[in-house]
Amino acid sequence: MSAPLLPHWIDGAERPSRSGRTSPVFNPATGAISAQVGLADEPEIAEAITSAERGFKIWSEFSIARRQSVVFAFRELLNARKQELAQIVTAEHGKVLADALGEILRGQEVVELATGFPQLLKGGYSENVSTGIDVYTLRQPLGVVAVISPFNFPVMVPMWFYPIAIAAGNAVIVKPSEKDPSASLWVAKLWKEAGLPDGVFTVLQGDKVAVDGLLTDPVVQSVSFVGSTPIAHYIYETAARHGKRVQALGGAKNHMLVLPDADLDLVADQAVNAGYGAAGERCMAISVVLAVEPVADDLIVKITDRIAKLRIGNGAGGAGREPDMGPLISGDHRDKVSSYVDIAEADGARIVVDGRGFTVDGHEDGFWFGPTLIDAIPVESRAYREEIFGPVLEIVRVTSFQEGLDLINSGAFGNGTAIFTNDGGAARRFQREVQVGMIGINVPIPVPVAYHSFGGWKASLFGDAKAYGSQGFDFFTREKAITSRWLDPATHGGINLGFPQNN
Ligand code: NAD
Repeated sequence: MSAPLLPHWIDGAERPSRSGRTSPVFNPATGAISAQVGLADEPEIAEAITSAERGFKIWSEFSIARRQSVVFAFRELLNARKQELAQIVTAEHGKVLADALGEILRGQEVVELATGFPQLLKGGYSENVSTGIDVYTLRQPLGVVAVISPFNFPVMVPMWFYPIAIAAGNAVIVKPSEKDPSASLWVAKLWKEAGLPDGVFTVLQGDKVAVDGLLTDPVVQSVSFVGSTPIAHYIYETAARHGKRVQALGGAKNHMLVLPDADLDLVADQAVNAGYGAAGERCMAISVVLAVEPVADDLIVKITDRIAKLRIGNGAGGAGREPDMGPLISGDHRDKVSSYVDIAEADGARIVVDGRGFTVDGHEDGFWFGPTLIDAIPVESRAYREEIFGPVLEIVRVTSFQEGLDLINSGAFGNGTAIFTNDGGAARRFQREVQVGMIGINVPIPVPVAYHSFGGWKASLFGDAKAYGSQGFDFFTREKAITSRWLDPATHGGINLGFPQNN
């Protein structure tokens, strides 16, 4: 039986691609191709944009009350059916079901924030700024906006953006990763059921051709991108050159600084959770543990013990206890992760636990990579400096808080970081001096709640606006300031050619 062709979602309906270009979608746990996704060509990109333009005209005329009822309905449907969506995520991404559900719940927080948009988008009013003159501000939607997402959070990452964009009155075109495109199609159907007019939520499947079409078309007003740093940089430059608002979130290499006074059992638990959860395919994963001596040896024993107890298998479960960790997204990615462990070894690091060549019985063709622990990685090694994006935890032994802080600050990325300590003064100094956008204090994956904003520093975010929170509402609206005078015969000022002054 040939694999089904996954369509676009345009004008409120499935629209199979006729471009003749496709990309395979795998079940990473079995290595089998489950579908082909059609990749948009230029006529399909134009069709998606035209439909979104029509959708915007209709949607932006909806009253606040009507828009709010649609967002509420979407939230209720999502909450009721999230298990169904979690299964789709696991089948195409590979993460275990509990983790897929966790991603949906964190995305749902942004939907819940968006239901309160009338309060968050209220304008301001200043009465009698000058005699008889009032000033007020309005916030209006941008129009058609694009969201381009990575493979690792096929639900949550697009949800960082579109609930707020839609609530604010925009029409959204989502370009999912071609590696796990089904979740966005499921979401599109849910929006339709919630009462969203056709054309307001579009799914454009594709690769660089689709992305470039969105970056350059004058109708598209803004681009929200999440993915690897080189592509984020390209998106930022290209979209800005075409006059668009752009927020482009890139890669990461997140460090956990462990001070000698920390509770090492807590640290070991959290390092394992944050290093190996979702097989390390999280932009907020912990990749490096900076152990301030003398704790490294003890910590390595504790982490190694915990790794031995991890269950790795098909994220969909089925046989007995659910696994803790699933496969990587693709065979190519597994080989890339493996090559970084080779580099670390060649550069003189000690491979304490080696995940290379790992397989799962009965699923030998899956894209497996076992949890890997590397000690004494040289900080000059590419395996330390670059993002690996797999279940590989590296230990760097340092002699002081300052040495650890300096290492974090000398890295290219600035997405997330964490400090583990019982010393409040050290934690406070860390939060002030570390050059990173999201910081955990005894918390390993400090993804901010929906009403704070998400985003890193340096090569982890190009652009001025973070995702969601108040910055999300700012990003997806434009402000107008209106200065108004209703002529009152008693205050009529007569002719005056001078520059208006307040009095
Ligand atoms: P990726 O950069 O390969 O792809 C992201 C998106 O860009 C996809 O939709 C893809 O189709 C598109 N794309 C790929 N190559 C392109 C090109 N040459 N031109 C135009 N578009 C292109 O990223 P990925 O492998 O899907 O995701 C993993 C990366 O995403 C990691 O680096 C991870 O750190 C990062 N990420 C960052 C965050 C964050 O918040 N900073 C969150 C999640 C993931």
